[in-house]
Amino acid sequence: MLETVHHLILHVVFILFTILLFQMVTNESDSSTKRFTLKFFFMNLVVLVFTMIFPVVYSSGYVYDFKVIPIILAFLYGGKRVGVGTYFTMLVIGLFTDHVWLFLLMNYAIYVVLLIPLSKWYGRLNWKNKMLLLSVFYLFIPITRSLYLLQKDELKQLPLVAGSTLIIWITLILTAYLIENRLEQIRIKKELMKAEKFNVVSQLAASVAHEIRNPMTTVRGFMQLLQRETLTEKQKSFIDISIQELDHAQGVINQYLALAKPQTEEYEVFSLTDTMHESVDVMSTYAVMNSIKINQNFENDLMVKGMKIEVKQVLLNLLKNAIEAIKENGEITASASRHHDGRMMITIQDNGAGMSSEQLKVLGRPYYSTKEKGTGLGLTVCYQIVKRMKGEIQVESERGEGTTFRVYLPGGV
Ligand code: ADP
Ligand code: MG
Repeated sequence: MLETVHHLILHVVFILFTILLFQMVTNESDSSTKRFTLKFFFMNLVVLVFTMIFPVVYSSGYVYDFKVIPIILAFLYGGKRVGVGTYFTMLVIGLFTDHVWLFLLMNYAIYVVLLIPLSKWYGRLNWKNKMLLLSVFYLFIPITRSLYLLQKDELKQLPLVAGSTLIIWITLILTAYLIENRLEQIRIKKELMKAEKFNVVSQLAASVAHEIRNPMTTVRGFMQLLQRETLTEKQKSFIDISIQELDHAQGVINQYLALAKPQTEEYEVFSLTDTMHESVDVMSTYAVMNSIKINQNFENDLMVKGMKIEVKQVLLNLLKNAIEAIKENGEITASASRHHDGRMMITIQDNGAGMSSEQLKVLGRPYYSTKEKGTGLGLTVCYQIVKRMKGEIQVESERGEGTTFRVYLPGGV
């Protein structure tokens, strides 16, 4: 009995040791490449060989071994190819070791059949469900085995089955945990590297954008001068178009610069009510052009802490989107009030085209736009500004019904 316990513990230690070695030899650049798969396959192989050469055999000849662990792991973390490879390797090793070969072939074939479909959606589960699935899947074997023993009246084997099951199960969960941990580490490190790269690129791009803006202003000025000259109507319309396009380009650059703006500016307390009035006034011409009415409903003396120019930018973007969502003859309701949790609540509601749930999911992603002349940066800027202010944006939308944007901002005292 004592020897069996020794034996079991030795196995546990060996398996965990192999996993630790595996963690040491894998790095970020490997993940989801052939090299990673190969290393993973090799790790499973080492465990497999060890557990099969030194199986835990009880006096009566029953074999309880850990080889189920590398098989399960190979399928769930390595995929179908690694799994099937491990299965065949096991069969080959089975030829040279003390195993009933036909049993190996049959029992594990059932496993393979079950594991192949499981391996497809295992990766999408969360941590808790993964552990649950592993447990249910593994415990299936000892339970069938216990039933078999019960039928054969070999009751004194049962405690042994229970004991080894428990140990193998714990080892399985532990190894899965270690592998998950490693994968998570790799993922975070990669994300960090990507964020760093993006940071550098956006800073560079911001300086380039800045450099372009100045000559554009000059060009625009000269164009306006040209327009006063005695030109034909056609030439004037060309210049008109050129100025419009320049303005469009300038708009894109301005929004882009707002995205990459350094975050050192000072926050101040200012009147949200005034800012709302000003923003709606700015947009009202654009609204009238599209025969849209903007209803206003602002509480008095609302104060907000932040940068006025930024909040205005958020409001203008949201109002502009609302106007553009309505083709014609719509209504927009803009309201601002003190929410019961102390924050300021701004609502911009339109009865325009609305969005589907798929669209809502990608809302705010840079360059996502459904408009021909859209930049797809407006909402990205809004989200960024509001996040910086420690506020929140909520969106409700229904296709054909309209959209409601709610912006919550921290109040100023
Ligand atoms: P742009 O306005 O340049 O397209 P935005 O980031 O402002 O970029 O908006 C992204 C997309 O989100 C829009 O193209 C549009 O499809 C959708 N959207 C934004 N606001 C609304 C709204 N009020 N109603 C319907 N769709 C909207
Ligand atoms: Mg927009």
